[in-house]
Amino acid sequence: MAFPHDRPRRMRRTEALRSLVRETTLAPDDLVWPLFAVPGQRVRNAVKSMPGVFQLSVDELVAEAQAGYEAGVRSVILFGVPEKKDAAGAEAYAEDGIIPRAVRALKQKVPGLVVMTDVCMCEYTDHGHCGVLKPARVGAPGQELVVDNDLTLPLLAREAVAHARAGADVVAPSDMMDGRVAAIRKGLDEAGFSDVPILSYAAKFAGAFYGPFRDAAESAPREGAGIPRDRKGYQMDPANAREALREVALDVAEGADMVMVKPAVPYLDIVRMVRERFEVPVAAYHVSGEYAMIKAAAQAGWIDEERVVLETLVCIRRAGADFVLTYCARDAARLLTGGRR
Ligand SMILES: [Zn+2]
Repeated sequence: MAFPHDRPRRMRRTEALRSLVRETTLAPDDLVWPLFAVPGQRVRNAVKSMPGVFQLSVDELVAEAQAGYEAGVRSVILFGVPEKKDAAGAEAYAEDGIIPRAVRALKQKVPGLVVMTDVCMCEYTDHGHCGVLKPARVGAPGQELVVDNDLTLPLLAREAVAHARAGADVVAPSDMMDGRVAAIRKGLDEAGFSDVPILSYAAKFAGAFYGPFRDAAESAPREGAGIPRDRKGYQMDPANAREALREVALDVAEGADMVMVKPAVPYLDIVRMVRERFEVPVAAYHVSGEYAMIKAAAQAGWIDEERVVLETLVCIRRAGADFVLTYCARDAARLLTGGRR
């Protein structure tokens, strides 16, 4: 019987004691910083719904990544807004597209940085979906369209190869098509990039937390005749946990080197379950809506932003994430190192 001698409070008396028994650490190199690349020179467009986040031309993106690197952030993940969009998302796999150009510049100017690239179609298609559209049923009346899973797979593989050829260290498919990890793995291997790992967005839930991101990546599904209004046809139902495990198992079986749960905070139970069930590294994406809520409350003076950011990130780690993708990366890194860098 523990009581009355077991008093955990004894170990909370001083900061030195607390840090001695702390179970979870948070360091700048646990963080991945998402950055948005746009065409042009010296472009720095503020994203209104994400204070502190900008759409950056490649030159500005390099400077931003450099500043993050100096603060201790060792990894970035890139999203691209192309010059032009079309129905097939051709700019997604163009060898001189916005992402290959950004990757090449980063590898040259910040050689120690881990450069991850998002692999998806939604930033490049004019309809804003993560794959190509086709009529829902051949010969059916009306114009209803659906995302065609299997037509999309070779395009994703081409996109990943284009990123790898530019020097990407990690490719991260976020489209949620079935079989895309195997298709990308095969494409990379055949093109001579068997060393490039895949971080799969394995459990990506359809929901409302991505709104601000779609402003930044200009990737919201467009309204139009027959175009699906949302991504519920391929992303997961927020109510499902067992299905998340099934998605992760499929991606691992297809060759995913790392898996991601997205969003983070409302889905920490999923992070924990994935951590306990699988041996691969687990990432969590602290998404735009989660970031925007912290920023908005801080701007209103209702919360202490610095403390909320660090508490949020350490809790995501405690749930089982090996690393966290977050728009707070550079600011958190500076807080963690006390401005010593
Ligand atoms: Zn997408």
